[in-house]
Amino acid sequence: MTDTLQPAVHTPIPGPKSQAIHARRTAVVPAGIPWNLPVYIDRAVGAYLIDVDGNAFVDMGSGIGVTSIGHANQAVIDAVTEQIGRFTHTLFGILPYEGYVTVAEHLARTTPGTHPKKTLLVNSGSEAVENAVKIARKHTGRTGIAVLDHAFHGRTNLTITMNHKMTPYGLGFGPFASDVHHVPNSYPYRDRLSGVAAAHRAIDHIEQRIGASALAALIVEPIQGEGGFIVPADGYLPALQDWANANGVVFIADEIQSGMGRTGAWFASEHFGITPDIVLTAKAIAAGLPLAGVTGRAEIMDSVHVGGIGGTFGGNPVAVAAAAAVFDEIDRAGLLAEADRIGSRLRTGLDALQRRHPTVGEVRGIGAMQAFELTDPNTGLPLAGAAGTISRYAAGRGVILVTAGSDGNVVRLLPNFTTPDAEIDYTLEVLDAALADIAQGGNGR
Ligand SMILES: *Cc1c(COP(=O)(O)O)cnc(C)c1O
Repeated sequence: MTDTLQPAVHTPIPGPKSQAIHARRTAVVPAGIPWNLPVYIDRAVGAYLIDVDGNAFVDMGSGIGVTSIGHANQAVIDAVTEQIGRFTHTLFGILPYEGYVTVAEHLARTTPGTHPKKTLLVNSGSEAVENAVKIARKHTGRTGIAVLDHAFHGRTNLTITMNHKMTPYGLGFGPFASDVHHVPNSYPYRDRLSGVAAAHRAIDHIEQRIGASALAALIVEPIQGEGGFIVPADGYLPALQDWANANGVVFIADEIQSGMGRTGAWFASEHFGITPDIVLTAKAIAAGLPLAGVTGRAEIMDSVHVGGIGGTFGGNPVAVAAAAAVFDEIDRAGLLAEADRIGSRLRTGLDALQRRHPTVGEVRGIGAMQAFELTDPNTGLPLAGAAGTISRYAAGRGVILVTAGSDGNVVRLLPNFTTPDAEIDYTLEVLDAALADIAQGGNGR
């Protein structure tokens, strides 16, 4: 273990200093912004988060798969510091700089397919989705957008229309965007369909309810993130891609959560043998600095007129410096292989937990993107609330977990790729105890 830190909780959670800040927050920050735990973070290093009360937590969420190369990575610190000293802004659409071009080259190199590609850089995942839709509409001259059930694409007006869950993301925020169509996904644990059958169901739905010639784009998360790390059945995504290609529909992969090495490949699309027309990146691309990418076939990306895309902060010089360091660091330190190795260790442990705990209905995921879905063994229904209970229990023992799933019954594990084995094993021990606790009716404390 290279880290000298250890999980250490020596106050109640939240501790007194966190509680004091939380009281201030409640007065000035809107109630609608959620929090998992009112624990205020002071600093982070490697696999650890340290709060203002000095408690140290193993970070198994990485801020939802953002800090994948580890907190306080020295290469990122150096690149960002150097760039801040040179300049922090020009607006790429007014006066350009090299870092933007470098990141576009990295994305052209690492996204699936060897065709010519171009990249637009923006500030957030939602903004990447918005721009992909704009570009697909302009390119095809069509307006319809198909999204999958259990999808999550963001929090802007268009993207809340694209999400599976209206509660909480859209409730009361209408009117919503038009011409967005929700299509059945592949969810093997629940639908028991083969990939071919699930694709058939989705394509029938599109052809009957929308019409192929009305559709500009079909957008998929290769592994659904907020939906609960749903891995589609074999053959589902290739069949959707074949259909989209044959019908002039732009096939977009939202790899905002599944990309940038999370699954042990640069992009999850590779595991399914798909080559999307457009790939979206955000979360892990710049180690936490705000940056997102829309990378697509050159002829699709170039279909937009001059001035039709861009923005003030998109591809900010400091964010692109961080992103270039992230790409270099993944290559230099062999972090794709590490994501795969850490993921297998976690998976072996989770599979063992499933054998011991009947509430673990399914363990799923690829690489360092693993989750388990909690099901009532008597009724087969989702064990709503159980994921939150487990995450509270784990926090009290020094492990930060994030939940997922449309029913809130999935625990997802997204360790960063430099997490030592000891921290993975400790997390598995805590999960074992947490699952035993919920079986006895514990409330997570
Ligand atoms: C997080 C996420 C988004 C939205 O990204 P923001 O940066 O929060 O706007 C979109 N798609 C997926 C798959 C995501 O995980």
